[in-house]
Amino acid sequence: MKQQEITMEKIVSLCKRRGFIFPCSEIYGGFANSYSFGPYGTELKNNIKKLWWEKFVSQREDIVGIDGPILLHPKVWEASGHTTGFNDAMADCKECKKRFRADHLVEEATGRDMEGRLEEMTKILKEKKIKCPECQASNWTEVKNLNMMFKTEMNGINEPVYLRPETAGAIFIEFKNILDSMRVKIPFGIAQIGKAFRNEIVAGNFIFRIREFEQMEIEYFFNPEMKWEDLFEKWLKLQEEFAMELGVKKTDLRRLEHPKAKLSHYSKKTVDIEYKFPFGFKELYGLAHRGDFDLSQHSKASNQKLEYFDAENNKRFIPHVLEPTFGLDRSILAALLSAYTEEAIPTPGPSREGNYSSEIRIVMKFPKKLAPIKAAVFPLLKNKPELVKKAKSIYDELKLKFMCEFDDHGNIGKRYRRQDEIGTPYCVTVDFDSLEDKAATVRDRDTMKQERVEINKLENYLVNGLR
Ligand code: ATP
Repeated sequence: MKQQEITMEKIVSLCKRRGFIFPCSEIYGGFANSYSFGPYGTELKNNIKKLWWEKFVSQREDIVGIDGPILLHPKVWEASGHTTGFNDAMADCKECKKRFRADHLVEEATGRDMEGRLEEMTKILKEKKIKCPECQASNWTEVKNLNMMFKTEMNGINEPVYLRPETAGAIFIEFKNILDSMRVKIPFGIAQIGKAFRNEIVAGNFIFRIREFEQMEIEYFFNPEMKWEDLFEKWLKLQEEFAMELGVKKTDLRRLEHPKAKLSHYSKKTVDIEYKFPFGFKELYGLAHRGDFDLSQHSKASNQKLEYFDAENNKRFIPHVLEPTFGLDRSILAALLSAYTEEAIPTPGPSREGNYSSEIRIVMKFPKKLAPIKAAVFPLLKNKPELVKKAKSIYDELKLKFMCEFDDHGNIGKRYRRQDEIGTPYCVTVDFDSLEDKAATVRDRDTMKQERVEINKLENYLVNGLR
């Protein structure tokens, strides 16, 4: 049956209705496009982090993980160029006072890449009479750069302290400690998952662009004499592979290489991996060759040698680095969009190929590893203590193995519907026969097929199915 169009409205509504993601501070009227992850969203997020950590840290001998702080020495951001260069171009509408990304407005109207050319953007906004997306007026302030870092204060520190705008900063400044404490040999990587903060001029498209988000980043250090092109290609493939492990279709991904003219002076190559969101192909992940820029900058600014000693060849050098970066929130959004399925429910009765009722079931077909709840256990009827007792005892056993849920609300149909919408791979129902034959009915999320499974073999059955 034909897949219905997936819109952001459908995803946003399901996320709220089913406890994945809520607009934050809603009781105060909402707050600045920020969101809270609800119970199922938190499970989904943790499962994605776990999958990433297993793939890129636990299962690799050449990558170690760290967990650095959000507030770093202010000099870190001077050395990395963020205090002066981490800017977006903005213009305010003088009529409705709303603020916009000037480069986006101009690029949309002209198709030209305007990065950094503030005066030209001011001129184009005027000359082309570009309209305010909010109030349709065409009365703009001058285009200005706005630094995207959040500033705060810290007791005992006499200068502004920044909330990190990316996790990578904390990795570079621990490079020396990793060399001194771990037995890493080049090429090797340092990985980190954590919050990053950017004072985006315009946030939006649900959790695609928010001001407080999470990144999963790796700095992969290698000998500058090494042929980096193959390594670059390998990392791109690994990034795409990871997206597909979230359920993303290969055809919904594409690569966008930054043109040479747009590259930072230190980068040999940068590629965005884009995903086909309902609002167009947009960056999901990125991969950048950053040369020795970061280590050299931190070395100069801190007066510390940040070199690697190659004992085999008796050589010292500053390694070059590839930076694969993965947005966690955009991963969650891509996983939600890829899982969302609407299906007409087949009519009951003997097999009648192509006969569908008008009822639609919404089912989140997450890869099983990502599903927030792995199995739900139901007593057929709530008011039969012997069924409830049996179902509870099954639930008590299974919850020790994986995330489970017990549900005795409403009728079985409603319970299935709810579990489908949160993507639970298996539902286990205890009925009157269970008391006699010591078996329960297991219903599969994707096929809706039901199978009778002996209760003492249930755990094995589910563990195998969840692999
Ligand atoms: P964009 O062009 O969309 O602003 P970017 O090029 O600034 O992204 P990077 O600096 O490469 O992004 O950040 C690495 C990753 O962090 C991105 O690939 C994306 O997944 C994620 N990311 C960046 N900004 C945001 C944000 N405001 N909200 C959510 N995720 C973000």
